[in-house]
Amino acid sequence: MEITAEQLAAAVDELALTQQPVMVHTSLRSFAMPVEGGADAVLDALLSRGCTVLVPTFTAPQFAVVPPTTMRPARNGIDYASLPDESADRPGASAAHYTVDCGVIDAGMGALPARLLARGEARRGGHPLNSFAALGPQAAELVAAQTPTDVYGPVRTLADENGAILLLGVELNRMTALHLAEQSSGRRLPVRWARAADNRVIMVETGSCSEGFPRLEPWLRPLARSVTVSGSRWSAYPAKETLAAAVAAMTADQSVTQCADSDCLACRDSVAGGPVGPVSLG
Ligand SMILES: [Zn+2]
Repeated sequence: MEITAEQLAAAVDELALTQQPVMVHTSLRSFAMPVEGGADAVLDALLSRGCTVLVPTFTAPQFAVVPPTTMRPARNGIDYASLPDESADRPGASAAHYTVDCGVIDAGMGALPARLLARGEARRGGHPLNSFAALGPQAAELVAAQTPTDVYGPVRTLADENGAILLLGVELNRMTALHLAEQSSGRRLPVRWARAADNRVIMVETGSCSEGFPRLEPWLRPLARSVTVSGSRWSAYPAKETLAAAVAAMTADQSVTQCADSDCLACRDSVAGGPVGPVSLG
């Protein structure tokens, strides 16, 4: 037995996602049986209903560099003493830099983002470490909002366009969009470092620890519409309302997103407000 394209499309219909831009986070392992056609079939089910599919296609392991000592803000969710010695400004340091057509993706992003990116019509945003890619009618519009100095532009556009965030067999710790809510609640996002096209090292904002996001469940769960497909729970959250609810919860109590690891440096620094001092992006 396999899950068919018809079952997948029926679930998209039940969640009322037709014609919408949808940011998708997927676990194919969440299904009790294999999906016929795998990640491509999930993608095609959404595209067949006129959705534009937006996914994270991060490349931090490939393109992050060790920061020069002059570009290290405090309270940045990182222990600088733990970094390797070789700063990116040393002579002969690797000069690899991200481009929107590099085709590279962190394997940890999962099957669906990799399959989407492999399609010729996919469009990709311009952030060297945390890019988003999209496919479908509004793909160009969504990714155009992303630059090295605006990591979550596509999420903002998704919300403005009344799009949805679909968690397909995964929990809120995978909802990347909530990092935009962190920013909107007054936190600064942690910065990391990559090379620009001209080989300069630049600072770019990135997402912090997301393991505490499931604690937002009481505020966000009532907004979701859910359906179960062969043991896999799909939950569609309206982006604008979900971000607003998360911002309200975080503004009332910044510690609400703190993860269970009491030693988590990323959470400690984010909850305290994020990087301190002048941060010059891009
Ligand atoms: Zn944490």
